[in-house]
Amino acid sequence: MTEAINHAERSHALLSASASSRWLACTPSARLEEQFPDSTSVFAEEGTLAHEIAELKLRKHFTEPLTQRTFNTRLNKLKKKELFQEEMLKHTETYLDYLKEITLGMKTTPYVAVEKRVDFTAYVPEGFGTADCIIIGGDTLYVNDLKYGKGVAVSAEDNPQMKLYALGAYLEYGFLYSFKKVHLSIVQPRLDSISEFEISLDDLLAWGESVKPLAEQAFKGEGEFVPGEHCKFCKAKATCRARADQYTALDDFKQMKPPLISNDEVGAILEKGLAIESWVKALKDYALTESLKGNDIAGWKAVEGRGSRNYTDIDKAFEHLKANNIDEAVLYERVPLTVPKLEKELGKAEYRTLLEEPGLVVKTTGKPTLAKASDKRKAVTNEVSAEDDFK
Ligand code: SF4
Repeated sequence: MTEAINHAERSHALLSASASSRWLACTPSARLEEQFPDSTSVFAEEGTLAHEIAELKLRKHFTEPLTQRTFNTRLNKLKKKELFQEEMLKHTETYLDYLKEITLGMKTTPYVAVEKRVDFTAYVPEGFGTADCIIIGGDTLYVNDLKYGKGVAVSAEDNPQMKLYALGAYLEYGFLYSFKKVHLSIVQPRLDSISEFEISLDDLLAWGESVKPLAEQAFKGEGEFVPGEHCKFCKAKATCRARADQYTALDDFKQMKPPLISNDEVGAILEKGLAIESWVKALKDYALTESLKGNDIAGWKAVEGRGSRNYTDIDKAFEHLKANNIDEAVLYERVPLTVPKLEKELGKAEYRTLLEEPGLVVKTTGKPTLAKASDKRKAVTNEVSAEDDFK
């Protein structure tokens, strides 16, 4: 699902699939967001372009026998776009390879739909969206999503956006094909992440039923405001009262009696502190935007940031310096490439032969860092186990 399609989806569907984790958790948020303007970002536009390239490749491979010439003409057109980056070709290939792998193992020719509009109004009022790629083969419906972002890896596990697309796909194809299982996948090539999740059709349909009353509430703008992780992408994130109240009502901290707090309390405060950090950031962004508009934010104002000095023309400047006897060594820093960068330059095979095999690279573990208990990495301690001690 492209961010731009998400964007289009949002401007037309009040209850978009892409925002479903929010409106399912905080039902009045969708109506509250209506009073905020739509916005887009360069990252969203970059995502749209990567999706257009992926779509072209998928169509050529799966659904439309484009001649190489037509394909090249269309691709070249996309390559001319301002936000095009060479790496988009590689990342879209990773996505295509993943989908090819799914279809290769199938005994019969699968059905494939690319950028398919799905309608799930039977579950969510006015609910529709665009699924990046739907594949039906054997007894399984595959709903696949390309995410071009490289911020956070998105999990397909119980992902409501993906499940809504799957419900839409079921409504569209359920009477033509008899699938029993639904396979959801999110491919995020820039993070080397492919997340997969399988659910039975029965469980998906049961989930759909559970969504109906919440979607009804959300459509009417009813229910409780429930702040949480999902606030991060809400348009009301800075000025929402429910969100502010949860941080300004800090009474529970006061009840923690001195002189020392317990480890349980440390965990609880950290949890709250991180959420406050993200909320304060949203508030700062909002206050700056307001101040720049000339609106008053009590006690704050916008000022010019620290400037920087730049060459008007670096080639010309350096030529001039050299002509005036400034040594090149003064002008450039020789910095060795990091191991990952060098591996990229040399390619995996040569990197292995030249550096890894002769033992010229050593792998060290990172410095211990604090993570949430839900983090997938194994917990570490400084304690020496009896086994290590023995060794
Ligand atoms: S900021 Fe959070 S609590 Fe407020 S409306 Fe948005 S999702 Fe709900």
